[in-house]
Amino acid sequence: MSAAATLVQNLRKRLSKPTGYQLFDIELKQRIALSPSLMRFVFSARDVALMRTLAPDQRVKLFFPSAKGAAPNLPKYGDWQAARRNLAPEHRPPMRTYTLRNLRPETGELDIDFVLHGETGPASRWAVHANIGDPLQIVAPNAAYHADPGGYEWRPPQGLRNVLLIGDETALPAIARILEQLANHPDTPQVQAFIEVPDESDCLALVCGLHAKVHWLPRATLHKQHGEGMILAARELASLPPVRTHLRSTTALEELDLDSQRLWELASAKQCEFYAWVAGESAAVMDIRRFFIHECGMDRKGLTLMGYWQWGRSLE
Ligand SMILES: Cc1cc2nc3c(=O)[nH]c(=O)nc-3n(C[C@H](O)[C@H](O)[C@H](O)COP(=O)(O)OP(=O)(O)OC[C@H]3O[C@@H](n4cnc5c(N)ncnc54)[C@H](O)[C@@H]3O)c2cc1C
Repeated sequence: MSAAATLVQNLRKRLSKPTGYQLFDIELKQRIALSPSLMRFVFSARDVALMRTLAPDQRVKLFFPSAKGAAPNLPKYGDWQAARRNLAPEHRPPMRTYTLRNLRPETGELDIDFVLHGETGPASRWAVHANIGDPLQIVAPNAAYHADPGGYEWRPPQGLRNVLLIGDETALPAIARILEQLANHPDTPQVQAFIEVPDESDCLALVCGLHAKVHWLPRATLHKQHGEGMILAARELASLPPVRTHLRSTTALEELDLDSQRLWELASAKQCEFYAWVAGESAAVMDIRRFFIHECGMDRKGLTLMGYWQWGRSLE
């Protein structure tokens, strides 16, 4: 970048008010195979100290190379969304949502754990072929912004006694962080975590407290299709005492059309003994939603239900 361009950029930076989220350049520093299906990508960035994470399921947006193969190069100051919209489709960097697994300002690094699901989408394709030094861009919470920018849904209510976590491998990075955080919780609730993964070799050693029980649901071993392990866990859970005590009678439930809507329903209770956080493939989470709310009559104020991805569709 020329001296004049750097000067203009610095001037813009100083004049603009901090926004909740900021665009950063990042570079691939290391690949760490966590299991056959999960790869940790360690990125370095000059400005990691300017990023922040507010909760264990903090989401970020990653930008991948365009259909033409060009590295993402959106403007870091000003309206990157408009700049992206104005690009021709073949030059527009695809955007996907990921969980910020770790942020290490002291070493200028951040980690994102990718599910390797073949070469079906721009993110997974990038993950298969990525080389050290490859540049990407990320939109992450801005440390200079002091209000709450959102971008996370783990908001446990007061008075919590029982936590239920259900997710597939895309939710595993968030669940791992939630378990780590709960292990240090001063008044630790009982935690049940059900995690569906492709194979037994994808069951990771997670850091969790004595009050947490992790149940792995490897599809290959259980002879299950994607999502079936999560659904089974939810249905069998109804017989577990901590969940049963929160059941009422059958409740009417409006259906959602996953072709036109994203499943994203959040718990609203400020004070509640039971809190469930469920994330994964949308149709599976829909089934769990139907079971919990319609069939069991669970109070939706304590339920967070999120479609992280959807079979046969690309979601940004
Ligand atoms: C808040 C949030 C946090 C997330 N965190 C993570 C994370 O930390 N790690 C992570 O790996 N994913 C995470 N995801 C899911 C990720 O955004 C999607 O899997 C995304 O679709 C991947 O993009 P892609 O370009 O590879 O595939 P897309 O272009 O989106 O989809 C192409 C095809 O691949 C299929 N597909 C997409 N994801 C999968 C999958 N996991 N397994 C099998 N088929 C798939 C789609 O159904 C579609 O048919 C998160 C999603 C959300 C909303």
